[in-house]
Amino acid sequence: LSTWSAVPAGPPDPILGVTEAFKADKDPRKINLGVGAYRDENATNPDKEYLPITGLPEFTKAAVKLAYGEDSIPLQHNAIAVTQSISGTGALRIGGAFLARFYPNTKTIYLPNPSWGNHTPIFRDSGLEVKQYRYYDKTTVGLDFAGLKEDLKNMPEQSIVLLHACAHNPTGVDPTPEQWIEISDIIQEKKLFPFFDMAYQGFASGSTTHDAFAVRHFVKAGHQIALAQSFAKNMGLYGERVGAFSLTTADPEEKARVESQLKIVVRPMYSNPPLHGARIASTVLGNHKLYKEWHGEVENMANRIISMRHRLHDNLVAQGTPGEWKHITSQIGMFSFTGLTQPQTKVLADKAHIYMTSDGRISMAGLNSHNIDYFSESVSKAVK
Ligand code: PLP
Repeated sequence: LSTWSAVPAGPPDPILGVTEAFKADKDPRKINLGVGAYRDENATNPDKEYLPITGLPEFTKAAVKLAYGEDSIPLQHNAIAVTQSISGTGALRIGGAFLARFYPNTKTIYLPNPSWGNHTPIFRDSGLEVKQYRYYDKTTVGLDFAGLKEDLKNMPEQSIVLLHACAHNPTGVDPTPEQWIEISDIIQEKKLFPFFDMAYQGFASGSTTHDAFAVRHFVKAGHQIALAQSFAKNMGLYGERVGAFSLTTADPEEKARVESQLKIVVRPMYSNPPLHGARIASTVLGNHKLYKEWHGEVENMANRIISMRHRLHDNLVAQGTPGEWKHITSQIGMFSFTGLTQPQTKVLADKAHIYMTSDGRISMAGLNSHNIDYFSESVSKAVK
């Protein structure tokens, strides 16, 4: 039985629903007198008018294709409900609100410990109860895979589980593909509901396909999933607030019911999403030449970060810095949990003018060939 089988079809919005009906009408004489947007005598091609509640259709189509892959079964069956969102944050918030309203089981979401700092308030304010599962192992500066599995197995059946699809923030620690497969199996056994946050597709490995492994594996394995996407990082569109929230459903009829309710979630929050960033993203994703150019740039970003990880690691080892530094290169994505203690981060700020969060997390993207040697020496000194 689909998770969403009992979601009722919602009524169309009294105003924006008129525009939807207008757009669907193919008669050349059609006139739209519903929406409150000024037109002069000759207006034919309005360019900055309101988007539909669920956003720019070309954009949401392209976003879903990028995440799920062209050959995804629910995509081919027109069974993915999707709405544009105010970047990744807005996608998570729409998802939280939708689950709080329609998830048919206990409305508890489990977050990895630690997780992105905004996850807890987003889901709490959405009306879900927030709990944690073990994720990070301080002693190995890696994944606490045994603890993670044990916690998944001990969750009440049908709980919601938030998973970072790739480039876990703040730790930079991701499960391997083999570990993802095990996680998927346990989630299936326990009938848990997986909610993926994919804020960094392409950033981790340099390949958008590789970074979508977990999402695509779960869908292939038959899970119904929720997915929050952001185009802030991988397109450098931070301030444009471009994202998408989607749910896999049983069939096109259920997809239509779920989308009608997504509209009812979105309309009282912000009516409809901003246009400009979605237009940029859909232009890039929808044009073969631009897509290739963009993907090459994503690869360059990822590779630059990976090369900084290698230089940092090699410098620390060459300088005889006490401790084990392998995690610097095995971690992935923009962030690295260095393992530096709070007093060490304070010394770095006070003595070396180097600033990072007190949990020892650094954004690798802030390192470059000009400052990497100074940074490594300073870390080495702080640890000695
Ligand atoms: N999820 C994670 C894990 C993040 O790290 C971030 C941003 O830092 C987001 C979601 C949301 O970012 P935005 O709302 O800018 O897309």
